[in-house]
Amino acid sequence: MNRKLPEQPTKHSVLTDMFARTISYLRLSLTDRCNLRCMYCVTEDEKDGHLVKLGQGEMLTYEELLRVVRVAVEMGISKLRLTGGEPLVRHNIMHFIDNLAAIDGLDDIRITTNGVLLEKYGLGLIDAGVTKVNISLDTLKRERFVEITGVDCFDQVWRGIETALAVGFSPVKLNMVVMRNINDDELLDFARMSQEMPLQVRFIEFMPIGTSTRWNTDTYITSDEIMQRFTSLGELLPLERRQADGPARVFKLGSDARGTMGFISPISHHFCDRCNRLRLTSEGRLRSCLLHDEETDLKSVLRAGCSDADIKTTLLAAIRNKPKGHEMAQRLKEQGGDCHGRMSRIGG
Ligand code: SAM
Repeated sequence: MNRKLPEQPTKHSVLTDMFARTISYLRLSLTDRCNLRCMYCVTEDEKDGHLVKLGQGEMLTYEELLRVVRVAVEMGISKLRLTGGEPLVRHNIMHFIDNLAAIDGLDDIRITTNGVLLEKYGLGLIDAGVTKVNISLDTLKRERFVEITGVDCFDQVWRGIETALAVGFSPVKLNMVVMRNINDDELLDFARMSQEMPLQVRFIEFMPIGTSTRWNTDTYITSDEIMQRFTSLGELLPLERRQADGPARVFKLGSDARGTMGFISPISHHFCDRCNRLRLTSEGRLRSCLLHDEETDLKSVLRAGCSDADIKTTLLAAIRNKPKGHEMAQRLKEQGGDCHGRMSRIGG
């Protein structure tokens, strides 16, 4: 199909895709390396330590990343999320973030982290201009934390959460991937935490990304079922949608709650019609939909001595190919099926 993009970008212009969605949000997977081995993220072949890691030369350098971000911001990207793998394990990360923060027009830098290194970096991140932090936490039980992540560092992560609150991140969002018979017996404890602490606790549907992770129809729980489980705790009061909520539907559990609860339902209530995202994987490939395997190779373009105009053309090509939506729910009903990329390279 040879359709024309609605609008060519100019500096600080609005970037729109073929379906009139504004694309303003770029997610960078800075590395595929991680200090945890979460059961829903690493694949079977990676679990026994046979991690298939990218070589240093295979990941984009900081210089390459900064160049791409600068061009993307000129085109209309205004919000950036650093993810991975674990973004905080990449060498010299703070120096990189300082350089990012200096990019004119980039006013919103966020990070998704497992929290292990947040006690060390929390203050530096907020000082450098990172505006929001999402922390993954799937259990409040230390032993289960080891089962889920492969590493005994629950206390460290909890200190990371406390640091994020103490240095002034607001809101601090906790991401819980809900898995039946693995951590769903803790749903009420997480909900209570949203009443007692100034956190946004987000319940994320388990997605089938990466062949042979633990995903199957038994472990998957829909957001509707998760919400049902909270009826005994009190009334779920819907909050007005705000830009910062991203794809989450946000509620308060009772009017006195100090925090909020977010429900992210990429499969059961997908949010494709308002998706504003583009992803850059840690191997330098542009991915316009998390649940579609199609990617555009930006690294080869960068390493062929390209101009900024070539980068723009490649970004536009990826945006032009952004699908209208994914049909994951339908695919799962019909034939099973999952996405082939590795979450650690895509960045969630
Ligand atoms: N290391 C960081 C962390 O743990 O938050 C960032 C990378 S991680 C891939 C980003 C997010 O993706 C995390 O919140 C994680 O829980 C989520 N995630 C990973 N695999 C998932 C899956 N199969 N289904 C749903 N969410 C997943």
